[in-house]
Amino acid sequence: MAPIPGSGLAKGLAVTLRTMTKKPVTDQYPDTQPALPPRTRGVIGLFEENCTVCMLCARECPDWCIYIDSHKETIPATTPGGRERSRNVLDRFAIDFSLCMYCGICIEVCPFDALFWSPEFEYAETDIRDLTHERDKLREWMWTVPAPPALDPGAEEPKELAAARKTAEKLAAAQAAEAAPPPAPPAGTESHADEQARAAESPARPAGESQQQTDRPRQEGGE
Ligand code: SF4
Ligand code: SF4
Repeated sequence: MAPIPGSGLAKGLAVTLRTMTKKPVTDQYPDTQPALPPRTRGVIGLFEENCTVCMLCARECPDWCIYIDSHKETIPATTPGGRERSRNVLDRFAIDFSLCMYCGICIEVCPFDALFWSPEFEYAETDIRDLTHERDKLREWMWTVPAPPALDPGAEEPKELAAARKTAEKLAAAQAAEAAPPPAPPAGTESHADEQARAAESPARPAGESQQQTDRPRQEGGE
């Protein structure tokens, strides 16, 4: 059947009218901030305390845009005859966000949870060299990382939390045991403290009175 002349135009106008009556979904950035999902890949934050300078992230980065410098430090033995130990100390940790392609491999491979995604995205620069963020800047991003989403109701408790909870419970039990009063002695027995208190209350024996005098009735009774 041949199309009715002007039907295409009518269909197009119908779509236009339908769209005109819908609420706009465009965020008027920068006047309004967009509501970003929590797992948005905005920028990478570094939690330096967790970094052991294992270099895995730098090795796995497909763009080679993670720069790490470190040196070794010797830690003296803590016990006599013990061995000295050496550890890596971080000197530089930088990410060049002009090269980064936001693949997230560095975050995935980090075995010590030192790298995190932050949803912050407002770090455009007029000089490309300023897009290399050094460790201080990466640490600042860390404070913008959102808290992890809550676990499912039936989910297993994370190992770290379970270990921390057990330690806290043991500590609380030990503190409660220390603070509790000592157990009362069984009926019919006297504690050492009671004996001392009674001895202090009884009148002092007059000077010169001998043990013999005290023992006399017993001797007399025995005769
Ligand atoms: S997100 Fe990907 S490209 Fe960017 S630093 Fe990490 S590994 Fe490299
Ligand atoms: S993988 Fe993690 S621990 Fe290893 S150097 Fe990178 S950030 Fe540090």
